[in-house]
Amino acid sequence: MKKKIRKNREEASSLDPTKEERKRIEKLVTAYTDRFLESLSAQKAYTPFDSSINELLDEPIEEEPAKIEELIRDIEERIIPPGINPASGAHMGYIPGGGLVASAAADYIAAITNPYAGVYSSAPGAVCLESRLIRWMTELLGYPDGSGGNLASGGSIANLTAIVTAREDAGIRSKDVAGQVVYLTRQTHHCVDRALNIAGMRECVRRYVPMDSRFRMKPGDLEECIEKDRAEGLTPWLVVGSAGTTNTGAVDPLRDIGKIAGNHHLWFHVDAAYGGFFLLTEEGKKKLNGIEMSDSAVLDPHKGLFIPYGLGALVVREVEKLAYAHRYQADYMLDTKTDHGIYSPADLSPELSKHFRGLRLWLPLKLYGIQAFRSALDEKLLLAKYAWKRLNEMEDVEVSPEPQLSIFMFRYKPSDGDADELNKQLHQSIIRDGRVFLSTTRHNGHFMFRLAVLSFRTHLEQIDRFLTLFREKISELNDAERKTQ
Ligand SMILES: *Cc1c(COP(=O)(O)O)cnc(C)c1O
Repeated sequence: MKKKIRKNREEASSLDPTKEERKRIEKLVTAYTDRFLESLSAQKAYTPFDSSINELLDEPIEEEPAKIEELIRDIEERIIPPGINPASGAHMGYIPGGGLVASAAADYIAAITNPYAGVYSSAPGAVCLESRLIRWMTELLGYPDGSGGNLASGGSIANLTAIVTAREDAGIRSKDVAGQVVYLTRQTHHCVDRALNIAGMRECVRRYVPMDSRFRMKPGDLEECIEKDRAEGLTPWLVVGSAGTTNTGAVDPLRDIGKIAGNHHLWFHVDAAYGGFFLLTEEGKKKLNGIEMSDSAVLDPHKGLFIPYGLGALVVREVEKLAYAHRYQADYMLDTKTDHGIYSPADLSPELSKHFRGLRLWLPLKLYGIQAFRSALDEKLLLAKYAWKRLNEMEDVEVSPEPQLSIFMFRYKPSDGDADELNKQLHQSIIRDGRVFLSTTRHNGHFMFRLAVLSFRTHLEQIDRFLTLFREKISELNDAERKTQ
């Protein structure tokens, strides 16, 4: 038997490389990431692709080892380039992503040391550090003592966790789901609707509260809906406010909503996945005023703090409620239940074993300091205003009201022809060009462009590039039209 064990060990020895083998991999990896970063300004924000990419679906996973050089070449040439380039500052579609290099360094450390970050008794340093980050966020929001939260993989999961917490706090039984009412708007992110379904609340009533002309929930209408529902024997349960909607960047009147939710004893949740970290700026603080009245909120560090994808935060005013919703009992976990008075992520989320994802936020925050993030966010707010002003000066462009944060809508207004069709063509030609990436939406049944500024690499240069490209493509469109006439 020992002989067999030794043979198995020998055959698996590559899994634990020697220092020389490690260095070789590290060098090749950083050589690639250096090539990537050094060429970023020349890279496209979008690279078109066809169905040949789907060959990856049948990529053989073989018994035999492959060469690291070949694997990195595959990553560099085939896997990473097609589609959107979130590392590019010219990505201004959807909600732009981040990708701080310091986070990559932190991930590297977290993966190699691999602390068991879900449980305090296993990795007290990791758990304390993540709790500290959560407290930094609860303080940013203005939550009182007794608040807490969890670092999740993203905003969708964080919103789901919030909804489960609100459900458990209200003690909703499955037979009562159909009578529960959720108040939201048509601009609420779709992950909230999905979270309701996943949380077993599929049959609850979704009451879409009317919005003002700038896509903000109307508090008076909210109150009316609640009273009407109650009079009809329904149970108002949850209000979801948005601090920066994905589509239009609208911030609901959080203070007014908070008061109403409080008066009517409803759970008040704020989805601030996109807009939350603008709280670091003076302007954002004013706009998000009232967020401190919420029972729970979601903020995405992988949006507003430029961290690579994989980090969304949930904060809850009364952390006990989050713990109550995730209570569990397991004999093999008894060792972890020592009374140290500190919640572990495993007590506050559906996760047990988890990546030490706090490190990828902690390292850049400490390394660069909050001021750098505040300035970057102020820059984004100003860049959006600048782009909005410049587009407003164009006579053949129609622009939505001034951005509340860093997102707004606009479209080309042709003197004749089908505006929707022409804007679609315009968008296609911008996408094909690839120097700038923009996404689109519909407003009052019309095709609209969206500009979303949030990448830490978006500066005046990229906004000007977009403005120039937009004019260029409008001219091309006009020329083509003239020829066909
Ligand atoms: C991005 C976003 C979400 C979803 O978060 P993910 O991190 O993508 O899962 C939810 N709400 C809002 C307002 C968002 O912008």
